[in-house]
Amino acid sequence: MIVFLIQICNCCGSEEYLTQHHVIPNSYRKFFPIDLKSNNFHDILILCGDCHSEYELKANELKNKIAIDYDVPIDGVKNEDV
Ligand SMILES: [Zn+2]
Repeated sequence: MIVFLIQICNCCGSEEYLTQHHVIPNSYRKFFPIDLKSNNFHDILILCGDCHSEYELKANELKNKIAIDYDVPIDGVKNEDV
């Protein structure tokens, strides 16, 4: 049996300029227990450059909102002076 794997953008179906997108951002993953961090093969989606860029803009807005709403800085370092 021959299996052909064709990679396409999981969002728009494009076959060009494909990138790997980690579903769980590293800024959150680094705080996970080691057993969860070591099993991340299912955490990657294929996205084209355009879809990836569009996603990252929206994700950054949400990350900033979460950081403010829950007082959890994105970089993991809390600035007590603010
Ligand atoms: Zn796309």
